[in-house]
Amino acid sequence: MSELELPLCISCRSPITPKEKGVEMFCPNCGETKFWRCNKCRELVNNYKCVKCGFVGP
Ligand SMILES: [Zn+2]
Ligand SMILES: [Zn+2]
Repeated sequence: MSELELPLCISCRSPITPKEKGVEMFCPNCGETKFWRCNKCRELVNNYKCVKCGFVGP
């Protein structure tokens, strides 16, 4: 399989495969940055940080 441009999980930086069905969301603070979270990080409620405004949260 060639390197597709898979979205990276903002928490663990691992690529999210279409099979995995991660969650695409916008930063709840600034609403400008769109990022992905994998199912694992959602379950573990891992922290993420918005690259734009620095908001940290689950
Ligand atoms: Zn993750
Ligand atoms: Zn933000």
